[in-house]
Amino acid sequence: MSQFYSEVEGLSREELRNLQSERLRALVKYVYERMPFYRQKFDALKIKPEDIKDISDIVKLPFTTKQDIVDNYPLKLLAVPMKEVVRIQSSSGTTGRNIFMPYTKNDLELWTEVMARAYWRVGVYEDDIVQIAYGYGLFTGGLGFHQGAERIGATVIPTSAGNTRRQIQIMQDLGTTVLCCTPSYALYIAEVGNEMGVDFASLPLRVGIFGAEPWSEEMRDEIEKKLHIDAYNMYGLCEIIGPGVANECEYKDGMHINEDVFYPEIIDPQTGEPLPPGEKGELVLTTLTKEALPLIRYRTRDICSINPEPCKCGRTFWRLSRIQGRTDDMIIVRGINVFPSQIESVLLSVGGVAPHYEIIVDREKGRLDTLELRVEVSESFLSDEMRSLEELRQRLEEALESALDISVNLTLAEPGSIPRSEGKAKRVIDKRELFQREGGERK
Ligand code: AMP
Ligand code: ZN
Repeated sequence: MSQFYSEVEGLSREELRNLQSERLRALVKYVYERMPFYRQKFDALKIKPEDIKDISDIVKLPFTTKQDIVDNYPLKLLAVPMKEVVRIQSSSGTTGRNIFMPYTKNDLELWTEVMARAYWRVGVYEDDIVQIAYGYGLFTGGLGFHQGAERIGATVIPTSAGNTRRQIQIMQDLGTTVLCCTPSYALYIAEVGNEMGVDFASLPLRVGIFGAEPWSEEMRDEIEKKLHIDAYNMYGLCEIIGPGVANECEYKDGMHINEDVFYPEIIDPQTGEPLPPGEKGELVLTTLTKEALPLIRYRTRDICSINPEPCKCGRTFWRLSRIQGRTDDMIIVRGINVFPSQIESVLLSVGGVAPHYEIIVDREKGRLDTLELRVEVSESFLSDEMRSLEELRQRLEEALESALDISVNLTLAEPGSIPRSEGKAKRVIDKRELFQREGGERK
């Protein structure tokens, strides 16, 4: 059992509920007094702060959406005077327009605290040498991981993303024990290391903390084997704090949500109705203690479920499943919902290919949508002369079609031919959207 960074991680569920209720009461008062945006929303629903007594009353409150933040660009939702804002970060901008998120001194402290908890959860302590290959800058990845690593007293190497050969050189020279980056970048590092003739098994590297984009169990296996590490999942989003919302403990079985500060709900994305624990739906988060820009019932658009079962590590915080898609980047091909993560799982479970792939959705005039998939054949498959590419293609196509229920036009690409990313991989190229922007055909 790993040590808890904060005692709050071991509270009984009842104690936690009381804390959440107390914080929610203070929060509704805070936003009602300081944010005209929420005051108007509450007034429209005839809700007064006094009506919210217990955390279960949260369902009476209105949702907040990304559009609300976009509509109030750049910082019209600010709940404190600008002089109390000590940092501004931004979302990575993979979906829609960029937004800014401000932090007060206490908000930064909160962020640092949850990131410190995150490291301890995976057994990373002050003796560790932590290489942070998430992008530094407006994106929350770099600085979030940085602050937490400093707080626990680890040795921090802020390499930021990119310059991969140098990353690997530094890893070797300084004896990095923990790597933090996106999972797709971790794989790329493994690949470049291989080209450089690096034997990762002989390096002190032992832990990876990966997040900021969807990935799968199969990808975890792949990364763990290639880098000879334990790979852990980390979830967060800029609107809520950045990384540090939820992450796995040593048991790798769901991500403990920091429920004392980020209250989670799962709702049916169509109806907005709360779903019972265990069911899959859209994650909604409320920041219970944030100051600069608190959010009530923020719709993350991330699809996942919550596991309320106790965890072997002893932490009482409920656990978030892997993010299984977005309510908005889900691709619908011929009426069928397709998640890139689903495709990735199939590819990697069949084997023979590397987790570098591109999904191209297109529609020719008057024709059905086409789903094209370009995936790299793995080096090891190619070097085995007994195996045929044609047979591999057939196996993959069959597995994909039975999992997705639609036919896939598969191209096996040469190793190294699909563009690599240093941050979030761009997996889906939806050419149909181009039609829409140009005012052309749309279904
Ligand atoms: P950003 O605010 O730019 O960092 O983007 C946040 C979004 O990245 C989230 O809403 C998720 O869709 C995605 N994301 C972050 N962490 C993960 C993760 N561990 N697994 C899957 N998706 C993630
Ligand atoms: Zn646990």
